Amino acid sequence: MSFLSLPQDDRFVLRAATLPAVAIVGFDAPATEGLVKADLVISGGKIEAILPAGQAEASLPGVDVRDSMVWPTFADMHTHIDKGHIWDRRPNVSGDFEGALNAVRTDREAKWSAADVRARMDFSLRCAYAHGTSLLRTHLDSLAPQHRISFEVFSEMRDAWKGKVEIQAAALFPLDAITDEAYFSDLVSVIVEHKGLLGGLTQMWPDLDARLDILFRTAAENGLDIDLHVDETQAREVLTLRAIAEAKIRNRFDGGVTVGHCCSLARQEDDVAKATIDVVAKAGLSVVSLPMCNMYLQDRVAGRTPRYRGVTLFKELAAAGVATAVSSDNTRDPFYAYGDLDPVEVLREAVRIIHLDHPLDEAPCFVTSTPADILGRPDLCRIAAGGSADLVIFNARRWSEFLSRPQADRIVMRNGKGIDRSLPDYRELDPLYA
Ligand SMILES: [Zn+2]
Repeated sequence: MSFLSLPQDDRFVLRAATLPAVAIVGFDAPATEGLVKADLVISGGKIEAILPAGQAEASLPGVDVRDSMVWPTFADMHTHIDKGHIWDRRPNVSGDFEGALNAVRTDREAKWSAADVRARMDFSLRCAYAHGTSLLRTHLDSLAPQHRISFEVFSEMRDAWKGKVEIQAAALFPLDAITDEAYFSDLVSVIVEHKGLLGGLTQMWPDLDARLDILFRTAAENGLDIDLHVDETQAREVLTLRAIAEAKIRNRFDGGVTVGHCCSLARQEDDVAKATIDVVAKAGLSVVSLPMCNMYLQDRVAGRTPRYRGVTLFKELAAAGVATAVSSDNTRDPFYAYGDLDPVEVLREAVRIIHLDHPLDEAPCFVTSTPADILGRPDLCRIAAGGSADLVIFNARRWSEFLSRPQADRIVMRNGKGIDRSLPDYRELDPLYA
């Protein structure tokens, strides 16, 4: 039994809602902890108007949500739905980064047919949709021959899920493969064909700058944005982030560039970190932190308690004007044993791990409007008059209520109608583990 029942009318009001101010367009009201009170008029599947609480026509059908929080749907901007849900056949015994790389490589080479990737991607997308996500970017392991298999499946999924979850994909491969011309040119043609993004993983190679120049030049020539895996390590000598920012400036690249992880930045001396953050801001990079996965993998040594949280300098980057977001990363694979593509869980854990609280005013934008902007979809994941009535209603009125429970009873509304939020059954995946 749901905590409230939605009207079935074409035009109705959600009365007395509590909205996160940072994710609303064109509505001003006094905020408490970043939360405002409003009536939302919904008509024909769209948000017709956002009105001060109590001002919607009394004669309109509607429901009094009694101060329940109403959020826009979520943007989960850094995931790996090609890897998801392989844990049961390929666990990471050591639980560390090396163990994850090796387990995934073995699994990919043995198992990742189109049918296998398709089944796991679809499972992941059903979870994401049920939790209230409407925009998702995945990275796709793209070493040959996997790039041709996974991008094909991604294209199918993008078409099949259109209107429910908008999906983008970035090619993930170690950038040392960028000098293999036959491979790289084939990869680029696959990315262009399937309208994906260039991605990759950087390391402290002596010729890193030259590799980055190839990356940026190729992206510019093909009109591609870039989304990289960067410095996912606690090793303080690893700092490719700065090289990436400088390469973007040097190449006068004007496409979007996102960097994920950037863990080692938090291990630098303050002056070194500040110099890097300044260049990142100047270059206009966007940064996504993956707090659950970072906390799981970073600073893990058998028999020793971790000392570091593993996350990047999120607050310092944001203070410097860098667009920052948090996201799921891996789910039930060797890089992260847990997770269900639930942005509420991501935000709840991010609040604890990164101290996004006190105040919490800005927190909602890190899983909604900011990642949607970074992904080039400013039309999604915010509450705006004229926009789709894609909303998530929580049985929580204030932050302490919201962050203390998993919000498993949330209502997800798409185009003004409540959706079936049933999660797929894990037993469905059993044939993949045979
Ligand atoms: Zn990742």
